Amino acid sequence: MTTPASQWTSFPSSDRAQRTKLSSTAAVVMAAEALRAQGVKVIDLGVGEPDFATPDHIKQAAKSALDENFTKYTASSGILPLRQAICDSINAQFGSDYTLEQCCVVGGGKQAIFNAVMSLINPGDDVLLEKPCWVSFPEIVRFAEGNVIWIDTEPTDFHLTADQVRAAITPKTKLLIVNSPSNPTGRVIAPDEFRKIVEIAAERNAWVISDECYLQLVYPPRQPFSAAALPTELRSRVLIAGSLSKTYAMTGWRVGYTLGHREWVTEVLKVQSQSATHTSSISQKAAVTALTASQVPVVEMLAEYQRRADWLIPALNEVPGIVCSPPEGAFYAFPNVKQLMAAGGFASSKEVADELLYKYAVVVTDGAAFGAEGYLRLSYANSLDAIQEAVSRFHEMVSARRN
Ligand code: PLP
Repeated sequence: MTTPASQWTSFPSSDRAQRTKLSSTAAVVMAAEALRAQGVKVIDLGVGEPDFATPDHIKQAAKSALDENFTKYTASSGILPLRQAICDSINAQFGSDYTLEQCCVVGGGKQAIFNAVMSLINPGDDVLLEKPCWVSFPEIVRFAEGNVIWIDTEPTDFHLTADQVRAAITPKTKLLIVNSPSNPTGRVIAPDEFRKIVEIAAERNAWVISDECYLQLVYPPRQPFSAAALPTELRSRVLIAGSLSKTYAMTGWRVGYTLGHREWVTEVLKVQSQSATHTSSISQKAAVTALTASQVPVVEMLAEYQRRADWLIPALNEVPGIVCSPPEGAFYAFPNVKQLMAAGGFASSKEVADELLYKYAVVVTDGAAFGAEGYLRLSYANSLDAIQEAVSRFHEMVSARRN
């Protein structure tokens, strides 16, 4: 006999669903939307996506795909020209030799990581994660019933080191996830250190996911560095989770990829084929154009992020109680606000973020959401005018707290 809907007391969700949290960065977005609905002019430094429009030539490719009725199912691994374009662009930039069977197109970097973790992790396997890190890493690992083992990178100014990995790795470690450039810290792992980290994983028979969603967003003199540049043997230990979202201002198009050992990619493809099937056929056509046409828009967007960071970081350091290192990549500033908290009587960085939101209409994300209490994450994927106004509201908050 079935239970009538009126007798439900609560939905009998699975243990897996109960273990999974709604994204905490999504909660900030919802709070900001509620304020906007009340007519408050909110300055949003909370978003993790480019403020630029998708370049016209990429949109044009999508329009042509529609006109040509390219609107049917595609192969689960993605259309051939796109897999070829991904392999070609990474091989040309990093001297690798990825072939088509080593590439699976997915619905964004998040799905790349999800599929990769699902295809590797058994219940009880240990997974090393940097703390702080992107909010979805621990959630995805827990979804797969893996154990999260944290590596605290605050002592090394948020740069993951081989020594830290060596100290944390055990025979139970199956996977390490690295993310360079990092969300939320904007830090970049130097190529030598990166190689040493993967060497340790390989020696200990562990695997590595390299989240390279911000790969191209690196500030000079640093150059983009991918796991693709590692020697072949080391590279085979690593699955690259790539994305077009941030590079080409294509967050809504949902195009990402995995590149790695063909056996791991085959498993990723199985997960993909039984869940999403594939990402949108139209987006895939647009992605081919994004990767094969001129990369000038990427250079221009990066230069604009640099211009904003060049203004923002010194300005933040002038706010009493804030200390902020310059970002090395991505589009996030990650200021230390511990002195500001002490001087202003804030018990947590969440309290600072809430005060900024509810009294000064500035959205920032508190560091604790990523595992770093005492920090804030400010996205400068917003206009310089908006960024300047936000900083002046920081000053207002600090002086109001002092009086
Ligand atoms: N990885 C990191 C570190 C991110 O910050 C994000 C998005 O914010 C993603 C992966 C996922 O991006 P997408 O799924 O849009 O490619």
